[in-house]
Amino acid sequence: MFDKVLIANRGEIAMRVNRACHEMGIKTVAIHSTADANAMHVRMADESVCVGPPPARDSYLNIPAIVTACEVTGAQAVHPGYGFLSENARFAEIVGEHGIVFIGPKPDHIRLMGDKIEAKKAVKRLGIPVVPGSDGGVTNDDDAKRIAAAIGYPVLVKAAAGGGGRGMKVARSESELSLALATARSEAKAAFGDDSVYLEKYLQLPRHIEVQVLADNQGKVIHLGERDCSLQRRHQKVWEEAGSPALNAEARDKIGAVVTNALTKLGYLGVGTIEFLYENGEFYFIEMNTRLQVEHPVTEMITGIDLVREQVRVAHGGSIGFDQSDVTFSGHAIECRINAENPLTFRPSPGLIKDFHVPGGLGVRVDSAAYSGYKIPPYYDSLIGKLIVHGRNRNECMMRLRRSLSEFVIDGVETTIPLFQSLVTEPDIVNGDYSIHWLENFLKRKVG
Ligand code: ADP
Repeated sequence: MFDKVLIANRGEIAMRVNRACHEMGIKTVAIHSTADANAMHVRMADESVCVGPPPARDSYLNIPAIVTACEVTGAQAVHPGYGFLSENARFAEIVGEHGIVFIGPKPDHIRLMGDKIEAKKAVKRLGIPVVPGSDGGVTNDDDAKRIAAAIGYPVLVKAAAGGGGRGMKVARSESELSLALATARSEAKAAFGDDSVYLEKYLQLPRHIEVQVLADNQGKVIHLGERDCSLQRRHQKVWEEAGSPALNAEARDKIGAVVTNALTKLGYLGVGTIEFLYENGEFYFIEMNTRLQVEHPVTEMITGIDLVREQVRVAHGGSIGFDQSDVTFSGHAIECRINAENPLTFRPSPGLIKDFHVPGGLGVRVDSAAYSGYKIPPYYDSLIGKLIVHGRNRNECMMRLRRSLSEFVIDGVETTIPLFQSLVTEPDIVNGDYSIHWLENFLKRKVG
């Protein structure tokens, strides 16, 4: 096993990786910007290296500084967490060229799935159902109009390089299409430096259901069931559950088998998530994330499998020590993303956390790097932590979630806790009856 791993991230996910490494007897190196010198992820690691000034492009995205940090500390592997460099194929390659193991998939697979047009073509060939749409990019408005008429309105214009819901625009009729194309292209150009876009049928009331996979380099691919991430605002996940209230064991096994077959053919390595929209009993692929996801803990809670430990093991060349038939799903888990934001407008609220008290008790997990007296810097995302609750069934999980939310104290900054407190009493949420549009409609009713 590795002796030392460098964690190329910050905040709760750096803490999460640090925990898994320490349990495995692996020493850790934290990196940090000057803004994070006193951060908890730095204090918990065995060593730390400052990699630059506060802006992420100069620190957490600074590839030469991070590779140098590996070399000076003797770290044999890098865990990228999520965000930052986690889906940067060039980073994975450079790390490899320096004789350091990238704890993640092969660079070619990161690159393939990072281009959503190519990814869609590839998974379709591997037998995964996709959303009807343009078979590739659309470069001119006339082609787009012809394709949109064939798939039927409404259509969604999406960026090939997309992520975080950016570069996505709905056109409800032909008259809206030119503007949607232009807006999506310019948003994509600004966010990703690439203005290629493609078209998809805009599904009306789907759920977002994603399948977690784990693969070793001996050809074994296992799925760990699904997560339902339908509760979203501006295409960003807010609340995630495992399993999905909309799936039964038969549907889960069926889509799990489709996904594991496809990734076996691809020769995938590490953890990954295949994201689908699910409507009227049908799955439609939207994208694959070639990294650990924010919401991975709900899967851990119902399977008992430590996804980060497995990531490290398979990156080291180890085989998955269990079979698909050994994976069992026990109970239900829900995660709430607690952000430093206004609970209704989602305006960021960085600043000093004066008082921080986390809930506890049976089935309650809080993944966070915050503490009383911690000052949330304005440079990075606004995630303070994740509240993850497990119960023997969904009803028990909801009871425990209500109780945990009432115990959680974060004073000094605005947080999304009040939003979750109102969600847990909504009949649709209690019944698990919601689509990807439910939360936006709820917020419209609340905020007007
Ligand atoms: P990103 O990479 O920006 O996160 P995704 O392709 O994963 O983009 O889509 C994010 C969210 O946007 C989905 O979870 C869903 O809510 C919505 N979405 C994406 N594609 C469609 C579609 N064809 N129809 C309806 N909603 C969609």
